[in-house]
Amino acid sequence: MKILKFGGTSLANAEKFLCVADIIENNKNNEQVAIVLSAPAQITNYLVSIVEKNTNINQMLEQIDLAENIFIEIIKKIKKIQSYFLYEETKKIITIEFNKLKKIADSIKLFEKCPENIQAIIMSRGEILSIWIMQNILRSRNYKITIINPIENILSIGGFLSSTVDINESKKRISSLNINKNHIILMAGFIAGNKKNELVLLGRNGSDYSAAILACCLDAKLCEIWTDVDGVFTSDPKKISNAFLLKSISYDEAMELSYFGAKVLHPRTIEPLKQFNIPCIIKNTANLKSNGTLIYSQHDCNQNIIKGITNLDNIVMFTVSGNLIKQKNNILFKMLSLLQKENIHVILITKSSSKNNFSFCTLAKEKQKILYIINKSFKLESKEELSNNIHIINNLSILSIIGLNIFKKHDLASKIFSSLGDCKINVIAISQGSSKHSISIVIETKNILKSMKIVHDALFCNKRFINVFLIGIGGVGKALIKQIFKQKIFLQNKNIEIKIRTISNSKKILFLNDSINLENWEKFFQQSKTKFNLEVLSNLLENNSFSNSVIIDCTSDEILSKQYINFISQGFHVIASNKKANTNSLKYYNNIRTEALKENKKFLYETNVGAGLPVIQTLQNLFNTGDSLICFKGILSGSLSFIFGKLEENILLSDATKQAKDLGFTEPNPFDDLSGIDVARKLLILAREIGYHIELKDIEIEPILPKYFQQYKNAEEFLYKLKEIDTVFMERVKIARSIGKVLRFVGTIEKGGKCSVKIEEINSQNPLYKVKNGENALTFYTNYYQPIPLVLRGYGAGNDVTASGVFSDLLRIIL
Ligand code: ADP
Ligand code: ASP
Ligand code: MG
Repeated sequence: MKILKFGGTSLANAEKFLCVADIIENNKNNEQVAIVLSAPAQITNYLVSIVEKNTNINQMLEQIDLAENIFIEIIKKIKKIQSYFLYEETKKIITIEFNKLKKIADSIKLFEKCPENIQAIIMSRGEILSIWIMQNILRSRNYKITIINPIENILSIGGFLSSTVDINESKKRISSLNINKNHIILMAGFIAGNKKNELVLLGRNGSDYSAAILACCLDAKLCEIWTDVDGVFTSDPKKISNAFLLKSISYDEAMELSYFGAKVLHPRTIEPLKQFNIPCIIKNTANLKSNGTLIYSQHDCNQNIIKGITNLDNIVMFTVSGNLIKQKNNILFKMLSLLQKENIHVILITKSSSKNNFSFCTLAKEKQKILYIINKSFKLESKEELSNNIHIINNLSILSIIGLNIFKKHDLASKIFSSLGDCKINVIAISQGSSKHSISIVIETKNILKSMKIVHDALFCNKRFINVFLIGIGGVGKALIKQIFKQKIFLQNKNIEIKIRTISNSKKILFLNDSINLENWEKFFQQSKTKFNLEVLSNLLENNSFSNSVIIDCTSDEILSKQYINFISQGFHVIASNKKANTNSLKYYNNIRTEALKENKKFLYETNVGAGLPVIQTLQNLFNTGDSLICFKGILSGSLSFIFGKLEENILLSDATKQAKDLGFTEPNPFDDLSGIDVARKLLILAREIGYHIELKDIEIEPILPKYFQQYKNAEEFLYKLKEIDTVFMERVKIARSIGKVLRFVGTIEKGGKCSVKIEEINSQNPLYKVKNGENALTFYTNYYQPIPLVLRGYGAGNDVTASGVFSDLLRIIL
């Protein structure tokens, strides 16, 4: 004997009814089958709204018509596909049932309320009619049917809307039916009968429970629950797209999953199956090939301890605090007993060890009832003090993580809380399930979906994701996108995935999705009509739900650089090739770092000095490990390295500068390079990194050019005027050469923090002697590195090297 239960999702239309009939036929060939049916999808919801709209007869009739039409449409279509279907007979029954409902609606209107026994009758019509339709499909295919009437045979105890089955008595009753072995057995789910043989319900979604009960009563070998998904997933697959199917889970795990909200199973389904040791398989009516999920007594040790992540919404949390609790130790106990007596289900409890307060969560719909109970029952116990000390939080959800002995997993808590914290999700309460198979977290409902995705990724995905929001698509930004695209497979093999979420310049922003390939992003960017400004940016920050989110600033925009503290406080790491933040006031410089420390976020700027050369990281490594500076000397400008190199080859200053400009080594107006200010900025960043508290104005700049050159704002004019000082320069070069030296534009940091940038004559022993052609070189004389300094040398400009520096910062977010 095998039980097959089909849920509403498997009976949503005529085609699905016929598909279910085919599944029954196929299974019937091997062994006797007993079928439990739910109402077609949405039907119970319509019936519930009849009850809810109990004062408005027109609205009640509207709902009744809606439900009736769905049934009529279903049978019309069945008749079309299977012409021999007993259509007229079925239609007659549907009409009778809905006429009954219309009469009930009239009397509800008259009495202006709908008692629970009548509610149960109304809400059960979907299941009753599903059975009629299915029996007529099967009869028309010449099968013999036995219908089990659940009102007479499934004895249930409790209220009319959510009662509990007495399995032993039901088993006795069903055994006495002596069902013919060749018959297909059909029974309506969701329905049972009380001692007085009145119809009662087993609670919403309760036909899974009916199937489990019938399996026990008929000594079935297996209970199959057929639905619209392949089985039990690590989370609701309709919400979490990368949730995956669990091949098998234990009874205890299934119980815990369903209790904490995995709707695929009614919470009470598993208990009876476990008691009678009947395995259960969850299968998909729309995918017969899938093996589904097996729920049974074994526990597969090879599987991940964590089985799933679930959610319960519409939760309210009561917190009771104050002296009263301290004085009257039994108040928690008393409150819980009162709630239990009123059948109010407490989902979760937390209690502070100081005994000064406790909190409990229930469904929000119970809130008024609970307040009423407190008001009524605590009269003698300083009711006023109690009610003054009750704090209620609405609109909550409970996220639970389920797995057998889940607490054995030592890194669980850190993964959960760091991933939620990373996305700035506030945890309101935490509770360990008394079974030790779950951990539950109370959070605001507005954050539940986001939190489920985050926690699911943190616990089930070995991959580490970095989510990039790129601002600035000049040479460096573009080169960075290319490099990320090129390294995709290489990084995937290391379980790293970099997802660029947005790309923007000062005007527009492109939101990337899976259809936009990093190879063709420019086409989509051109088509994008979404404007980019600080408001768009702030919306983006607020709504971001990704962990390891990084803003990369590849602009030279000062306004943007002033937003970094804001970015960090909103949960982003910041990577800047833009130097403006680090050369801003010392106060801002320090504030960024304080915020980053507070928020546990990274602020990385390796490319601020020497482009891709590992300058900042090297310095941090040295000083973190106790080294100290004796002296720094460096060539920090690629353009000045090129120009001063050319002077040695007897090329005039103006010609060398023009060549540098033509090769793209200089700013649009080369005056900006020759002014020395850019070198001073880099020196400032280095000095601050070493620990000197200085401002840009503290750096002594010995100008390369006479002051009057400032007036030449136009590059052509500037280059023309530069000729006026060619001979002076040539003379300096000659003098230096006569004593075996060359001219270099050098930045210096002395011990104590004095900084200067100036032209220096360098002898052949100095590591800077050979540095030209656009190369940068940085020499650090330190306690550890002396008398021979630590030298970093290489190209200090260029899109590819700068982008690779930004890229390596990006990987430091997770490595
Ligand atoms: P039926 O009508 O067949 O009883 P339900 O809607 O009651 O179907 O239950 C199936 C639904 O349960 C799925 O469509 C899915 O969205 C939801 N669900 C929630 N959590 C899970 C989970 N962990 N695994 C599979 N499905 C889940
Ligand atoms: N039809 C009922 C409901 O929607 C029972 C069930 O589907 O299991 O709650
Ligand atoms: Mg269901």
